[in-house]
Amino acid sequence: MLRVTISQIFLSAQLFNTMFFRRNKQASSNSDFFPLTDTLMDFDETVPTRAASGESKPRRQSEYSAKSGKKTVSEKWLIASVLIGLYFLANFLLYEMGLTRKSTILTLVGLIAFGILAFFVIFKTKLNVQLPEKRLKLPIVIVAFSYMLFIFYLEPATQIIFTPFAFISIAYGMYRIRTNTIYILVGCALMGFGLVIALHYRQWHNLALLKLEVIHFLVLLLSLPAFVFQIGKVQFLNRILHRASRKIKYIQEDAKRDVLIDCFNRRYMVAALEEQKQSADKDGTSLCLAVIDLDHFKKINDELGHLGGDEVLRIFSRIAQENVRSEDIFGRYGGEEFLLIFPTTSLLPALNTSERIRSQVEHFPWDDALQHGVSVSIGVTQYIPGESVLELFSRADTAMYLAKQGGRNQVVVEEPVLEKNNAEPRSEISEAMTTEKDMRFGMNRV
Ligand code: GH3
Ligand code: MG
Ligand code: MG
Repeated sequence: MLRVTISQIFLSAQLFNTMFFRRNKQASSNSDFFPLTDTLMDFDETVPTRAASGESKPRRQSEYSAKSGKKTVSEKWLIASVLIGLYFLANFLLYEMGLTRKSTILTLVGLIAFGILAFFVIFKTKLNVQLPEKRLKLPIVIVAFSYMLFIFYLEPATQIIFTPFAFISIAYGMYRIRTNTIYILVGCALMGFGLVIALHYRQWHNLALLKLEVIHFLVLLLSLPAFVFQIGKVQFLNRILHRASRKIKYIQEDAKRDVLIDCFNRRYMVAALEEQKQSADKDGTSLCLAVIDLDHFKKINDELGHLGGDEVLRIFSRIAQENVRSEDIFGRYGGEEFLLIFPTTSLLPALNTSERIRSQVEHFPWDDALQHGVSVSIGVTQYIPGESVLELFSRADTAMYLAKQGGRNQVVVEEPVLEKNNAEPRSEISEAMTTEKDMRFGMNRV
């Protein structure tokens, strides 16, 4: 009866799949018949790596985020070094054209080396970790402005490169420094610029230089605040984007979970099974699948009510997840039926784990209101290379169905019947257990 129900679900889901997901057909393999295999595409990054223990973080998340935008430490140093290098190059060009002195270039080299060393030591000793803004963008930009103003003080000709690099410095720190702070920073930089102009005039009494520098000052006075204003808008958009991407992440997480039972949901399990099948095909590793069904669950609902029944499902889910390895994938297929995927696992260890779960469920101190306690029937099988996910599932489901027929509260293994010359998965179990009689039709019962 149960099998018929699952087969019906398969068939209707398959029809639905064929109708609505045809455009992704090339993405699925010879397991096309398995319902919702196209969902695999949605979980591409995380399917094989989620621990069955219910932890909410995909194991490959760090890889994923590195690929999807987060810069590594070396990338950050590279960006900063390129910007410093460009400023140095601009100064060097002025020197080559005879507009600045060699001593200024040497001073600049010394300042840059000192700055890089100072920040390197701070980052290496993790002094920055105690600060609210760990990337130290504000101190870096302050140092950059101070250096540029000092070089401008030494060499009036460098005022030409002060302006573009002032913009570059602000842009460098714009995602980490608040707009108001940038306004203050710009105010200080303008005051510094004005001070240097005054010092130059006091030193040389050069009216033409004064005029040029004042023009530069006025241009900066007009353009820098406008630039900061525009940056404020970009920061706002960036904040919205950040919030939206966090929400999407939560939604994606929720889409994989069965929140009532706290395990993976059917959609995720189907995608995970397809993914694991493909890995097994690619790497030639073994793969096992268990179909688990709670026995007489209708009676449990009758005795405890539906809320009590839900609690039984939650406790069962916890027991199962506590008894599997982190790489095993456990989730609810529907109702009181669960799937347990054992990646890179042969039949014997999968059988042992299933038996452990069965035994723990049987011996759990369930609510006294339950007359017969709680038990599970489990069907386990191993993947035959090249078969479809549907075939694999059907075999595990058949084994589970036989466990029901055999009196429930037991694990039944359906060994794949292989070609004559390739009896590997079968021999493992054959050696481990049971009589010849039990092995009829490639079936072992524990
Ligand atoms: P069997 O041993 O043959 O599996 O018998 P069963 O009573 O467990 O199986 P059957 O498929 O006849 O009934 C399953 C019941 O599980 C019916 C349904 O009301 C109940 N059920 C399905 N999903 C949930 C759920 O999320 N919460 C609760 N409380 N009950 C559920
Ligand atoms: Mg049941
Ligand atoms: Mg059932």
